Amino acid sequence: MSRYRYAYRLLPLELCHGCRLCGLLGLLLLGLLTAGFAWGESTDSSSRTLIIQLDPTTRAIQGELRQHLSADASFHLLKGLTVTSAQRGDEALAITQDAEGRWHLAAGDDAAGSDLPVTLHWRGTLPDTGQRHRIDVAGTFLPTRSGWYPQLGDTAGPLSLSVEVPDGQLAVGSGSLIEEQYDKGNRYLARFYHPRTREVAIAAGPWQLRERTVEGVQLRTLFPEKLDKAFAETYLQRAAEQLARFQARLGPLPYTSFSIAASPAPVGLAFPGFTLLGERVIPLPFIPHTSLPHELMHAWWGAGVGVDYPSGNWAEALTTYLADHDLAEQQGEAEAMRRRWLADLAALPASQESALVAFRGDADPAGRLIGYQHGAMLFHMLRQRIGDAAFDLGLRSIANEWMHHNADWQVLIDAFSQATGETQDAFFTPWLTRPGRPSLHLESVQVKRQESGYRLSGILVQRGQHAPWPLNVPLVVDTDAGQINHRQPMDGLRQPFELSMTARPRALEVDPAADLLRHPGSTPPILRQLTLDPTTRVLALDEAHRALAQRVLGREAEAITPFDALRDEGPPLLVIGTTDTLLEWRQANHLPAPPEPLETAEAARFWMLPGQPIGLLSGNDTDALAQLAATLRHHGQQSYVVQDGGGQTVRVGVWPMKKKPLRVSFTANDFSSQPSTSQPPVSQPSTP
Ligand SMILES: [Zn+2]
Repeated sequence: MSRYRYAYRLLPLELCHGCRLCGLLGLLLLGLLTAGFAWGESTDSSSRTLIIQLDPTTRAIQGELRQHLSADASFHLLKGLTVTSAQRGDEALAITQDAEGRWHLAAGDDAAGSDLPVTLHWRGTLPDTGQRHRIDVAGTFLPTRSGWYPQLGDTAGPLSLSVEVPDGQLAVGSGSLIEEQYDKGNRYLARFYHPRTREVAIAAGPWQLRERTVEGVQLRTLFPEKLDKAFAETYLQRAAEQLARFQARLGPLPYTSFSIAASPAPVGLAFPGFTLLGERVIPLPFIPHTSLPHELMHAWWGAGVGVDYPSGNWAEALTTYLADHDLAEQQGEAEAMRRRWLADLAALPASQESALVAFRGDADPAGRLIGYQHGAMLFHMLRQRIGDAAFDLGLRSIANEWMHHNADWQVLIDAFSQATGETQDAFFTPWLTRPGRPSLHLESVQVKRQESGYRLSGILVQRGQHAPWPLNVPLVVDTDAGQINHRQPMDGLRQPFELSMTARPRALEVDPAADLLRHPGSTPPILRQLTLDPTTRVLALDEAHRALAQRVLGREAEAITPFDALRDEGPPLLVIGTTDTLLEWRQANHLPAPPEPLETAEAARFWMLPGQPIGLLSGNDTDALAQLAATLRHHGQQSYVVQDGGGQTVRVGVWPMKKKPLRVSFTANDFSSQPSTSQPPVSQPSTP
């Protein structure tokens, strides 16, 4: 079972030694605590004890930090906070603040030889707005290293965290919940323990608590009253199901509790032992099936096994694959999900491509596509290459050996190499270090009759700036006697293949289930082509509508006027106008009508011109235009969107593509019995 889950319960806790709160409130230990706990100072020199009292109404905070310190240290505290004392045992330590506001702590005379931790007290009023923190009665979030506590040194170690808030508020923090105390009408106190971390984050809010114990884990929801009544049970139920599934696959959750807490901020964030979800997204019906499993999966990857950020963030890719894709797989929608990912990636302009290893967790849409989707496809290819058993074995060994330590990509590569008994470096390295993806093509496909059946042969060709990438290409042949599945390893630019079969082949398809990370061939034009390309320009046929472009693209864009000539190979263009003006403009520029008659449909519509990176946004009036512009960011994967006068989306879709680019059908005429009389090559080029 878990060497983590039980090991750290036996470590001595050190929270209430000398703590004023305990005298005040008394100890109401939960059943989770056993008689085996010793309350006292830890002997682990890397351990930290943090005791925080927080009042979101006044933004007042006071804290106590106990930590071993062998050398002088300096740290930053937010404006408004002051260190009130610094001691080691009875010895007062010198603490000063420099002109820039940074605090400097002298370690004291015999720091190196002392077993005693340093105790720091600080207090003050937190700024109401910070770059990263938020403190408010409606919701508080204090992220790690944001100046609300002294970050002394950077050594990972056990963290004992105690958070006290006024009655009416509840709090959650890094690690497993150890106990909580309610003092009705007065205070609420919760204690957390993390076996090994450098970071500490806390959140608080006007929350109701619901909880249930599932497979040894306390699952908790911390929602404001309205959300609690309406959604908490659903979240607990879904979390319970997902937890059971994840634990069966990966081994135990590395924390004894997991809290799903609401935040007024529009976030979806994972921390050790808890997740923060935006109050606005919690009611959305798909969130318990998408964001919730994703954030829970982060308990293993990112908030469990840590990310060595300078060497690249692998955790989003792995989490996306093991949560989002896994759920789609259960619902029979995995292939559709992969096709969407590949279409999104295909919409990336060359200037926005970067290597997966360069992804750190950036918020820009292009970086996220690569870090999440491109990365998840890499794990999908790996799993198909090495098989489910070796894949899961590798995952469990990473969780076992690296829990609460920071891992880099090489740790993952080594774990999968060990699980398969052969090195996986040659597979991983190109996908990690080279930007972009290959396009695949078929050449010289031919079928020959032979004495005992048929022989199908051809050449697989890879193209792309950094080709060749290592691929294991699925080839599927439909025959009179059913399907034949073959995997063709491909490490070079050209790979001949040859398949023998007894039944007559009807068709050959390459990668029919979108299992490969590649350019999917000709793709329908989608809105994301405009939003991802930083060179996209805007043409507002009425100057009053120019501001709408910012809502569609999510940024300012260069504007052109109706007098600027349209260039054939120009950058993408977003054109905005009222229904009639836009129709006139399109006709005057000899651009084709949309494939479906939607140009005057309903109240407002957006569509991409097939064949050109031009998106058209038209509406019967300014209100209809504004309504559609505000919702378009949810429709990046569509070629067209139509809205009615009430702002309801009534039609969306993707322009149909004529043929599958990597499928070849055979008729009787294609079969030759002699090599010398074989048909000319059947070639199905696909354009990247
Ligand atoms: Zn994530």
